[in-house]
Amino acid sequence: MAATKTAAPKRPKTAAERQSRVHRILHLLDEMYPGVTCALVHRTPWELLVATILSAQCTDKRVNEVTPGLFAKYPTPQDFAAVRPEVLAQDIRSTGFFNNKAKSIVGAARKIVHEFCGQVPRSMEELLTVPGAARKTSNVVLGTAYGIASGVVVDTHVQRIARRLDLTRNTDPVKIEQDLMKIIPQENWILFSHQLIHHGRQLCVARKPKCAECKLEPVCYAKDKTV
Ligand code: SF4
Repeated sequence: MAATKTAAPKRPKTAAERQSRVHRILHLLDEMYPGVTCALVHRTPWELLVATILSAQCTDKRVNEVTPGLFAKYPTPQDFAAVRPEVLAQDIRSTGFFNNKAKSIVGAARKIVHEFCGQVPRSMEELLTVPGAARKTSNVVLGTAYGIASGVVVDTHVQRIARRLDLTRNTDPVKIEQDLMKIIPQENWILFSHQLIHHGRQLCVARKPKCAECKLEPVCYAKDKTV
């Protein structure tokens, strides 16, 4: 039987309607993904920083397979600072792009050991000086490890879903983050980031999103909706 087309959701016209729609989206995300958090296994902010650097172009599952052995071999930032990048590269080979990742991790360790007393800094401004920590990585570390809402994590999932939900019309991650920070209350930034990342993995996938299972469908007017 052919799928029945539902009426296209009405777009908000006023600022109050737009704000109310954003609140509805947040409420629906809470229903779908209550209390979700980062899938990267870690015990300290430093371990989360390393895991986040490793997760570029790699699945969290693979990273979680590699990190227990890695942190057993190099237990502290000082251990990472003392290793040569070409040696570390062999330990993280299976995560892909291992030469660049090794350079970033060793560079980050040296910076943190020499300039931050071995502690991952707690501000965006300081974290952005650490090799391998651009805004996305810094937001993950500050939000998940320290509970500091410094911004919204904009990865490939957040980029796609924010556009599908018409929360932004930009394509540049920095501009998307600025748009989201304007309309999402700051107390929601950390959870909202995790929720969109989970949503992007589970339902709002890049090709053929599973809209029939999505509670956001009544407020979504994405062109590539599948219902
Ligand atoms: S309705 Fe479809 S396109 Fe819209 S957010 Fe849900 S899964 Fe994504």
